[in-house]
Amino acid sequence: MLEPTQRTARPPKWAGWGDPEKRMALPTAALEMLRSELGQTEPMRSVELDEVGLPAPRPLPGAIVDAVNQASVLLAHEQRVRRSAGRSYPDLVRLRGGRLAAAPDAVVMPGNPAQLADVLEICAREGIAVVPFGGGTSVVGGVDAVAGPHERLISLDLRRIRRVEIDRVSLVATLGPGLRGPEAEDAVRAHGLTIGHFPQSFEYATVGGFAATRSAGQASSGYGRFDELVTALAMVTPAGELRTLATPHTAAGPSLRELVLGSEGVLGAITEVTVRVRPAPEARRYEGWMASDFASGCDAVRSLAQGEALPDVVRLSDETETRVSFGLSGTSGLRRLLLGTYLGVRRRRRGCLVICGWEGGRESVERRRALSARLLRRGGAAALGEAPGRAWERGRFDGPYLRDTLMDLGYMAETLETAHSWSRLDDLYRAVRAALGSALAAQGTPGIVMCHLSHAYRDGASLYFTFIARSRPGAEIEQWHALKTAACEAIVAAGGTITHHHAVGLDHAPYMPAEVGQTGLEALRALKERLDPAGIMNPGKLLP
Ligand SMILES: Cc1cc2nc3c(=O)[nH]c(=O)nc-3n(C[C@H](O)[C@H](O)[C@H](O)COP(=O)(O)OP(=O)(O)OC[C@H]3O[C@@H](n4cnc5c(N)ncnc54)[C@H](O)[C@@H]3O)c2cc1C
Repeated sequence: MLEPTQRTARPPKWAGWGDPEKRMALPTAALEMLRSELGQTEPMRSVELDEVGLPAPRPLPGAIVDAVNQASVLLAHEQRVRRSAGRSYPDLVRLRGGRLAAAPDAVVMPGNPAQLADVLEICAREGIAVVPFGGGTSVVGGVDAVAGPHERLISLDLRRIRRVEIDRVSLVATLGPGLRGPEAEDAVRAHGLTIGHFPQSFEYATVGGFAATRSAGQASSGYGRFDELVTALAMVTPAGELRTLATPHTAAGPSLRELVLGSEGVLGAITEVTVRVRPAPEARRYEGWMASDFASGCDAVRSLAQGEALPDVVRLSDETETRVSFGLSGTSGLRRLLLGTYLGVRRRRRGCLVICGWEGGRESVERRRALSARLLRRGGAAALGEAPGRAWERGRFDGPYLRDTLMDLGYMAETLETAHSWSRLDDLYRAVRAALGSALAAQGTPGIVMCHLSHAYRDGASLYFTFIARSRPGAEIEQWHALKTAACEAIVAAGGTITHHHAVGLDHAPYMPAEVGQTGLEALRALKERLDPAGIMNPGKLLP
């Protein structure tokens, strides 16, 4: 058994994203662009952490302290605030405004699965709601302090369960749920291996959270989504431990592993995850390409997916996202002129940026890159070289820091995602764009709606929308709610999934009947009733 690298990331900003030492300034040209397109704004301020009002904590049974130990039950105001919300735009608005209607009565941090089982037994007996908490990066209300029918609620923080065991022969790693992305990756890198799971929330999200939400990383086209990497899991439920066999495959009935993946803490707490790992890449090559428009870019990515030529990272921005990302990155003056001239020579004045990345052995990277390049060219895309690819790679985790800057300035910036088959993708794209555009206009805050395609498959792909608008001071949550509802209704009407990788949480739960049907919902509810008869696990999430 090995100890993972103890990387001590600073505690994240309490009302923003990520490392408190890291801030992103907007280049002047970008600020001018936003002001001219979206209008003047009022800066959004934040209260201080100690000004956030919380309901008074209700006392918990002493048996919980006995099950873990005094130091592992946190009651301080800061700890309760930090476990009250995830990191969606409305979460951050509520935190900045110091407006929290609910908070956990305590944060409980078991040190191992046996302690965790004791805590769940006490909570089930006493009727105390339990919200499993990994990195708290949910953007769908997954960690909100909802007690359901119960009066008391604890946040069950899994950070102390951090086992690492590596089977070098089978190329699998068994990991504790509390390891953050960089800690898990460092632990396998020490053996020359990689997990290859790099969501944008990588810095703070955890292994348990990745499994509980079916997370997809930026390189999912090559390495696979997190759920595709998982070979086995253990979960402690109020009714006992559920453990699946760590074999490469089994034909023994429906997959229990699949029931645990994506269960979002409503059945129990995941205490162990075994994932496939592979040799750390020897070579990496990232490039930019330019498609003439979004439709032809989609066709080119489909040809890659169906021609066994998908890069490990592939990401196609629509026209608006291409324009805005060049604008926000401050690509102005000489750089923009050079890019414009370069594209002009290739008869591309406008277009859609495609980022492609290949990783692995040197020979494999070269061979796969040549194959992808051939298909991209055949699809009409023009090569931009490595500079845009490297720039994307350098800034791949920066987007959420920029959101904080935009919020400071008084802009709303939010994202949502979906997926569909190739034949229905364009209808879905148009429907969601139109719904967001109309809802923004109806709010009196016309905005920028942009999209990229990522996570490509042989049969379809996911679409990731970002919308930026002037926020309505004092009515930010209502404004967000109107936009989110419009987009979700458009997704459901177009037959897309309500979430490709952000999960369901509270925000998407009302759309679960459309996703799985009434019988499907009843099957999930029956499973919950069997594993969590007292209904203490993460009430209100996943199941409407
Ligand atoms: C800026 C930003 C960028 C993001 N980018 C991506 C992305 O690229 N790809 C992607 O897939 N997602 C992304 N997300 C969403 C989020 O990071 C993922 O859903 C992530 O997997 C959550 O991990 P976590 O450890 O933070 O879980 P938490 O937020 O703590 O919890 C998420 C849900 O899982 C449950 N849970 C957590 N741990 C356990 C456990 N051990 N057992 C049972 N249930 C548990 C919680 O109760 C909750 O319902 C992003 C979020 C943000 C804020």
